[in-house]
Amino acid sequence: MNRDRYLLVISGPSGSGKDSVVAKLMGLHPGIECSVSATTRPPREDEMEGVHYFFLTREAFRQKIAQGDLIEYTEYVGNYYGTLKSQVDIRLDKKITCVLVIEVEGAANIKQFYPDCTTVFILPPSIEELERRLRKRGTEDEEWVHKRMMRAEEEMALANQYDYTLVNDDLDRCAADLFEILKQRQDDKE
Ligand code: 5GP
Repeated sequence: MNRDRYLLVISGPSGSGKDSVVAKLMGLHPGIECSVSATTRPPREDEMEGVHYFFLTREAFRQKIAQGDLIEYTEYVGNYYGTLKSQVDIRLDKKITCVLVIEVEGAANIKQFYPDCTTVFILPPSIEELERRLRKRGTEDEEWVHKRMMRAEEEMALANQYDYTLVNDDLDRCAADLFEILKQRQDDKE
């Protein structure tokens, strides 16, 4: 089987619950692993270095770009985010399913380099619910909510470019559907 089949790319706006869906998927299937991205965004209270992200200064991030350590990167709401080549290669080489949870521009770039990867877009049940979830987080201010809502609408307009879309109105079902997609793709002999 082509090694790209072990790569699962997930996108969805902030508040779509994509991280919870991926956490659920990995909890149910411990063989599935998540790539840890690099970012220049400061860590949130519950986030740990090397677990949620590798938190870098802008200078260190630019150095990674120059060294060719990133497969893709983008600037998202004022910060850099990028996928480390080492994080992906180490897993694909061992035939371990590797999940990337990245925004739309990065996902499109990954699809170019790994054409056989599987891309899935996670949608919130509605725009109203998305806004409610963002506000509930209460981690950032009103301007942040506004920016994320604008960005969410732009991103959702691109959902049809993904191999699959899933609506996250029920976490368990969404995670189960995601696993089915993965299984089908990896069982497909072509
Ligand atoms: P957050 O700041 O909420 O953790 O992430 C903001 C956005 O950046 C999310 O859509 C997340 O999926 C995306 N993101 C995280 N890591 C990467 C990455 O390595 N590359 C790209 N292109 N996007 C990323």
